[in-house]
Amino acid sequence: MTQVPKIAKELAKIVGRDRVFTNLEDRLCYAYDATFVEHLPDVVVKPASTEEVARILELAHREGIPIHPRGAGTGLSGGSVPLGGGIALVMTEMREIRKIHREDMLAVVAPGVVTAHLHRAAEACGLFYPPDPSSSEFCTIGGNVATGAGGPRGLKYGVTRDYVLGLEVVLADGSVIRTGGRTIKNATGYDLTRLFTGSEGTLGVITEIIVRLLPLPSTVRTLLAVFKDLAQAGEAVTAILTSGIVPRTLEIMDQISIALVEKFSPCGLPLDAAAVLLIETDGQKEQAEREAEEIHTLLTRQGAEVTLAKNPEEADKLWKARRAVSPAIAKIKPTKISEDVTVPRSQIPTMIRRLGEIRQKYNIDLVIFGHAGDGNLHPNIACDRRDQGEMRRVEQAIAEILNAALELGGTLSGEHGIGVLKAPFLLSDLGSGGWIAMKKIKQSLDPKGILNPGKIFIERSQELVKT
Ligand SMILES: Cc1cc2nc3c(=O)[nH]c(=O)nc-3n(C[C@H](O)[C@H](O)[C@H](O)COP(=O)(O)OP(=O)(O)OC[C@H]3O[C@@H](n4cnc5c(N)ncnc54)[C@H](O)[C@@H]3O)c2cc1C
Repeated sequence: MTQVPKIAKELAKIVGRDRVFTNLEDRLCYAYDATFVEHLPDVVVKPASTEEVARILELAHREGIPIHPRGAGTGLSGGSVPLGGGIALVMTEMREIRKIHREDMLAVVAPGVVTAHLHRAAEACGLFYPPDPSSSEFCTIGGNVATGAGGPRGLKYGVTRDYVLGLEVVLADGSVIRTGGRTIKNATGYDLTRLFTGSEGTLGVITEIIVRLLPLPSTVRTLLAVFKDLAQAGEAVTAILTSGIVPRTLEIMDQISIALVEKFSPCGLPLDAAAVLLIETDGQKEQAEREAEEIHTLLTRQGAEVTLAKNPEEADKLWKARRAVSPAIAKIKPTKISEDVTVPRSQIPTMIRRLGEIRQKYNIDLVIFGHAGDGNLHPNIACDRRDQGEMRRVEQAIAEILNAALELGGTLSGEHGIGVLKAPFLLSDLGSGGWIAMKKIKQSLDPKGILNPGKIFIERSQELVKT
């Protein structure tokens, strides 16, 4: 970007000098997300109101400057990395939970609210915000809406997309629109709320979010099922899903995940297991307990060794193990690539088998875990991006993983979005008709292409690491 000092001066007039950053040290802090993709922004700005966001976008639009919205930067697809240089628009100053309406069972929040803060605020009112990305303690609700984030509870309760009732969005030219509202039903015109949800910062900047809430379930029961065979664990997932019970979570960890977690932060998982399933039931006490018992019986019949957590502390310990998988993988090698393929649930056993074959074929450190209950697996690859031979094998393995998911009737991403890392594969998932329709929407809402350029749609080979 040319004329950085001039633009920084104009930005300072909008937000004040203390929320505009041009030093290298400051810019480096916003050059990355949770992937290996890196690129320095020319300037970082932290708006504190919708009006400031609108004036920043008006300026960027007039000057043709790329603008990259960013929440907490925990994305797993390179979505917030400022590949085009320009402005990193950091939304974390806008972090008020504006209102929890108990009677309407909804919350109005600013985009920079940390997701777990919304969980706790809702629970304090006896209400429940179900979407629970494993990053909840540090990601933002704005990032969740922009990526369409999910989480373990998605199996029973759906993902972020299923809870967004309305949005305030600043468009590329700085104009402000509202979509949806405070009603549960809304059939008025096109569903723009759904369009902006999952748009990954490429169609507008989200400045306010209305989410619906549910009554807080009174009881949660947690079970751990230990399997001697990974394929058997995959089949057990299908057995639970066809039993008529919808657990609230159904997570899988393979033998490598278990070993890594126990090395990283010992939680007492059995090291001789080939896989474990972590399952929760919830609802009124009688229902949650009956369903837990039925699952216990069913899995024991499937050959698993099943234990039921006796109290919340034991349940927390099991979840601590599940949450430790990602950080534990990051300890093996310097580069961690997290895939997010999703297949129809009946195809989970086949997908797990295919992943095992791919691991062997390419001789890579591939770890399998994820939200098995909704078909969303997170094959993670630990590698070293400085090792060219290994990276070539990893690239081939990733292409094969994505193709396997598509062949099984699945999709590239269940919850992390396309960002930059999956952009090269988008066409094979959508087909040219779908790809062109999406591109036309992008062009009509952002004709100058200033909003998060290089994301979702890839048009030329992009340098993924440039700082
Ligand atoms: C350890 C770990 C565990 C994770 N577990 C899960 C999981 O279980 N489920 C899951 O879905 N994800 C998970 N993630 C990925 C990540 O946390 C989610 O994608 C999350 O939604 C990103 O939120 P963020 O605030 O960090 O957004 P960022 O990473 O900052 O941005 C993500 C995308 O949203 C856009 N964006 C951000 N804010 C706005 C805004 N206000 N307006 C418009 N666009 C915006 C950005 O441009 C970018 O495209 C995990 C990540 C880590 C590191």
